[in-house]
Amino acid sequence: MATVRATRRAVVTGGAGFIGSHLCERLLEDGAEVVAVDNLVSGDRANLAELVGRPGFTFVERDVCPPGLPEALPGGPFDLVMHLACPASPADYLRLPLETLETGSHGTRSALELARRDGARLVLASTSEVYGDPEEHPQRETYWGHVNPVGPRSVYDEAKRFAEALVTAHRGVHGTDTAIARIFNTYGPRMRPGDGRAVPTFVRQALAGEPLTVAGDGSQTRSLCYVDDTVEGLLALAASGLPGPVNIGGDEEITILELARRVIALTGSRSGITRVELPGDDPVRRRPDTTLARERLGWSPRTGWETGLKKTVSWFSELPPAPRMTADHV
Ligand code: NAD
Ligand code: UDP
Repeated sequence: MATVRATRRAVVTGGAGFIGSHLCERLLEDGAEVVAVDNLVSGDRANLAELVGRPGFTFVERDVCPPGLPEALPGGPFDLVMHLACPASPADYLRLPLETLETGSHGTRSALELARRDGARLVLASTSEVYGDPEEHPQRETYWGHVNPVGPRSVYDEAKRFAEALVTAHRGVHGTDTAIARIFNTYGPRMRPGDGRAVPTFVRQALAGEPLTVAGDGSQTRSLCYVDDTVEGLLALAASGLPGPVNIGGDEEITILELARRVIALTGSRSGITRVELPGDDPVRRRPDTTLARERLGWSPRTGWETGLKKTVSWFSELPPAPRMTADHV
């Protein structure tokens, strides 16, 4: 496990989201004080329900884009800023195109200003999407990518590419201690059942006995990483002095059709598979080269797909059939 002993006070932007909430939990377990900031555009207070009220944890409902983020946060000075705020599911960023670009630009500037004020280390949650529909396979950090700047995914891909450039420039101009993590497809408990991504969609459909909606012929590939492993990777990068970019992702590449079949088998569902239209610019193949993370961070994913999917299915099967808890329930 990565050591976060050096972290006393951390800010997690996007802390009410899927990965962010797991990260907050892990930082608290390690004895850090944690301030989670989130405007809940794609997150859920329910993800933090077990943390609210715990000593050392504070939730601030706020958009990270407007100026004044450092002054708006209680506590501090902070020594770590984990910048995860950003819609991440294609359905979310297509619903929030301008907000996604704003968050990648103004939101990242806010997070950098906070890190600069306190002399904190900042880790940017970037993405494998900076490689676009990659022509290099597997993708190494040195690959510049193959991105359509005006395509349907561009608001997300270019927001993250801009965020990487901004972080790099801040480091050069102000000497801010920054790191870039390129996260590949991560899955696990607390993904929203309706967020449109493959794992939560397939699990929800399988549990409901509905057909699984495989896009295109399902031959496109992804390399899935269980959320606990992704969090370990992010913290290993935080604890290191590396600027990155560093790929954090799963090793096993599978087709989406195979993923659908595994979900059906694991849930014991009677669901079939139905074909839906392949979204525009959907990447054909994706797998990280994780040599850098292995050699420089001592990190590699540990959770096999069966264990990870079982935990995910078990979490989804315990969700109430009604809409998830709202702010009033916390
Ligand atoms: P998520 O949507 O569950 O979490 C993102 C959180 O950011 C949400 O809680 C949302 O409300 C919040 N947010 C968005 N815009 C904001 C703003 N302007 N101000 C404050 N809060 C804002 O998504 P996730 O899967 O947990 O992803 C977390 C981060 O990791 C994102 O930056 C995403 O790009 C990156 N990432 C995730 C994956 C993945 O597979 N899950 C892969 C690559 C990169
Ligand atoms: N996908 C699918 N059916 C769905 C949702 C997604 O076949 O109901 C496909 C999607 O077209 C893509 C892959 O699964 O090829 C992964 O999609 P996801 O949104 O999870 O991640 P991303 O495309 O951002 O890698």
